[in-house]
Amino acid sequence: MNKNNSIKCSVQQCKFNNNSESYCTLNEIMIGTHEKNPTVVECTDCQSFKVKSS
Ligand code: SF4
Repeated sequence: MNKNNSIKCSVQQCKFNNNSESYCTLNEIMIGTHEKNPTVVECTDCQSFKVKSS
C-alpha cells in the first residue's frame, strides 16, 4: 500500500499503517470523538482504524 503523505500516523497496530515510515495508506480518514465535550487531544479518535490481523 502506498503511503498518504498528508496523513502521518503512529498507530502501528492499524492495518492501514505503513509501519516503516509511520504514515497512513488510506486516501482519507474520519476523525471523531468519544466525548460529549472534547477538550484535549486524547478525546479524539481515528474512526477509520481497523486492527491488523495477526
Ligand atoms: S486508519 Fe487511522 S489509525 Fe489507521 S493508519 Fe490511518 S490514520 Fe492511522
